[in-house]
Amino acid sequence: MAKESKVAVVGGGIVGLVAALHLCEEPGVVVTLYDPAPGLGATHAAAGMLAPTAELRPAEAAGYQLQLRAIPAWRETLKLLALPESTLHESGTLYVGWDASDRRLLEQFETVAKQHDAQVSRVDRVHDEELFAGIHQNIVSGLFLPGDSWLDPDLVVETLVSTLKGKGVDIRYELVNSCSAEGVLTSDKSASQYDAVLLATGSAQLTDKFPAVVSAVRPVRGITVHVDSHHHAPGPMVRAFVRGRDFYAVNRGEGKFVIGASSEERSELGIEVGELERLLRDAAEVLPFLETAVIGELRRGLRPTSESNDPFLERVRDTKVIYSSGHSRHGVTLAPVTASETVELVKDIIHEN
Ligand SMILES: Cc1cc2nc3c(=O)[nH]c(=O)nc-3n(C[C@H](O)[C@H](O)[C@H](O)COP(=O)(O)OP(=O)(O)OC[C@H]3O[C@@H](n4cnc5c(N)ncnc54)[C@H](O)[C@@H]3O)c2cc1C
Repeated sequence: MAKESKVAVVGGGIVGLVAALHLCEEPGVVVTLYDPAPGLGATHAAAGMLAPTAELRPAEAAGYQLQLRAIPAWRETLKLLALPESTLHESGTLYVGWDASDRRLLEQFETVAKQHDAQVSRVDRVHDEELFAGIHQNIVSGLFLPGDSWLDPDLVVETLVSTLKGKGVDIRYELVNSCSAEGVLTSDKSASQYDAVLLATGSAQLTDKFPAVVSAVRPVRGITVHVDSHHHAPGPMVRAFVRGRDFYAVNRGEGKFVIGASSEERSELGIEVGELERLLRDAAEVLPFLETAVIGELRRGLRPTSESNDPFLERVRDTKVIYSSGHSRHGVTLAPVTASETVELVKDIIHEN
């Protein structure tokens, strides 16, 4: 790429920001990023788990191998951000069941995990006391998934924005109103022409703003609750089946926990009292110290979810436009993997010019 190529990234969630970082590593590529509020879409609500094994579901097994690539890809991305390796917390996940039927669900999960050669081992309170610190005493056994990790999305987003600015990326805090097949973007303030455009707009509906995109996304709401507790011991991420429901708690250290649930098929941003009450009750039953924890923040976001539940990265036919979305529950995990593939597609478009 000898001559300068102008690339626009529309959307500064984790997918757009990481793609912008990788794009500006390419010689001759000049990146402009548009977002009225970078990092405040679904990314703001994310718990930051990079947990391919805990997230393994029979119907989504194809994505598992892709997610396994995410952890090494994040290590490389953290280097580009000059963040220490310890930003990636390799805590693993402890997965437990609350009652007998929940333990059967856990056994089914173990069967699926083993079918995919996932690293899973049976653990119990007697031999693995540290893993069970803070867990209700009636829960005496579970599964440990050592490959799962987490990072703090707030820290990563903040560092991404400052690193991009440092690398000369023009961040425009503007909403893009339309995008033509020729790569002309229009915002309230101006219109600009680009050699390639990446749409990384999360769950936003694009049909009236952009050239015919093939894939569509539906918004799937999720919530996370940030709490401060007196339980300061480091520990694994905890997942549990409780009366058939599923919740997770990420131990961020110094008593801070992020609690969430991984499956909610709804698009309304409003949070029902009953939903929140069930999540917190499930969490406090499995982790009794949460009973006295103090709620810091309640975050909510719309996961961009495709019909197949898989992420997509497509070049919109006969245009200079790439559309990247559908990362659903795995956008933080997959952002660097998607970014590498995005760079290759952008290079193809640039070489055609
Ligand atoms: C509660 C919850 C917990 C989650 N936990 C995890 C987790 O632990 N691990 C994990 O891997 N994933 C998790 N996810 C999923 C993850 O957050 C998403 O997959 C990811 O954030 C999607 O990133 P994105 O960049 O595609 O979308 P977003 O983060 O929504 O970003 C899209 C951006 O595009 C901008 N935008 C939209 N339209 C325009 C326009 N016209 N012009 C300019 N800008 C525009 C928006 O302002 C927004 O900033 C979670 C999600 C939720 C809701």
